[in-house]
Amino acid sequence: MNNNNIYIETYGCQMNLADTEIVMGILKNYGYQITKELELADVVLLNTCSVRENAEQRIYGRLGNFKKLKSSKPNLIVGILGCMAERLKKDLIEEKKIVDVVVGPDEYRRLPEFIDMAFTGDKGIGVKLSRTETYDDITPYREDGLQAWISVMRGCDKFCTYCVVPFTRGRERSRAINSIVEEVKGLSQRGFREVTLLGQNVNSYNDSGNDFSDLLAACADVDPMLRIRFTTSHPQDLSDKLLYTIAANQNICKYIHLPVQSGSNRILKLMNRTYTIEHYMEIIDKAKSIIPGVSFSTDVIAGFPTETYEDHLMTLEVMRNVRYDGAYMFKYSPREGTKAFKMEDDIAEESKIKRLTEIIDLQQRISYEINQALIGTEETVLVEGFSKKSEKFMSGRTDSNKVAVFPCSESIKEGSYIKVKINRATSGTLFGDVISTSLPSEKDLYKTA
Ligand code: SF4
Repeated sequence: MNNNNIYIETYGCQMNLADTEIVMGILKNYGYQITKELELADVVLLNTCSVRENAEQRIYGRLGNFKKLKSSKPNLIVGILGCMAERLKKDLIEEKKIVDVVVGPDEYRRLPEFIDMAFTGDKGIGVKLSRTETYDDITPYREDGLQAWISVMRGCDKFCTYCVVPFTRGRERSRAINSIVEEVKGLSQRGFREVTLLGQNVNSYNDSGNDFSDLLAACADVDPMLRIRFTTSHPQDLSDKLLYTIAANQNICKYIHLPVQSGSNRILKLMNRTYTIEHYMEIIDKAKSIIPGVSFSTDVIAGFPTETYEDHLMTLEVMRNVRYDGAYMFKYSPREGTKAFKMEDDIAEESKIKRLTEIIDLQQRISYEINQALIGTEETVLVEGFSKKSEKFMSGRTDSNKVAVFPCSESIKEGSYIKVKINRATSGTLFGDVISTSLPSEKDLYKTA
């Protein structure tokens, strides 16, 4: 046992945020303390992301800062976790003399052992990928709060040609449905108000025949006042059963994050996305008919190898047809080790930026129009706290994950559900007046006006 202080920084997606909570659970069980003060740290861990070049460059920059710190604190242990550990283990250990510990997403159980090795002057390296590891029995270390994320599965078998995830997080494996439901029960008892179920591709979740719809329904049954969200879906695995499950459970948010990536079938084929735009639009139309008021967000890549301006126009066309509430939009970044890396990155940087700008501008316009159309309507908002901009206002989120800002009052409590009448909107935020400060029952919670 020891009482060294661990300082952790997390980069990248929600899966990494959930992993950091698992890592903290493992280290606390081993007697480590978690500190938020870098100065007090005996061990510094960076939980990293490799999805794009700039994500990795950020980490190299941060390691530079620690080099200075280490010169004044020679016993400080610096460790790299996450996707970069898996992808760049050799470079991190050999080139970056500053790094003492490199542990990939499937070897966190042995992290205390690797840190102990580093304290004795050896390098602690654990980067094996597992076909079974789900950390099912590990209780993530979570501070009290309103929202929690739970990783229900790990890895991905899709092998989209531009993506490093299958190489950094391994093959798909699902946690046991009972352990997830127990975790949701624990969070409900602790006063959490929203849970997001996470996976690189949650729709292919399967635990001895229980598929993702079964898991979602079981989590929704735990507490009707607990909102359930999930991300990320893959069009190929989004079943009708899942759509009916969302429609049938009031507390499953009517919001689906469904990456499209491109509007061109030729590019989708080169990306190995395994669906056509026609198939994708069928799912969107079906979801709209099965789930009244359902809203969508997506991921889009601009400038994939060989993308023509016509292909790009097809992407804009899909965005106009679906009308997403929001999107994560990036220009193509070649990743070594992926199939697309062997394709010539033949779209000029200037064109990538121009196309990405057109995509972002279009999405901004659509988000603005969608939010304008909500003026005059009443939204159920989960109160999260004071607005970032002023103590006179509070903010929260709607069922479709929009931020809503409203005047604060003593009767409004964090974690409560309130009704807000929308009177103004931007592309990113709704503004309104509170018309009911407490929605005592489930029935009131989901009554739409
Ligand atoms: S579905 Fe494709 S993009 Fe998503 S994590 Fe898997 S391989 Fe990557």
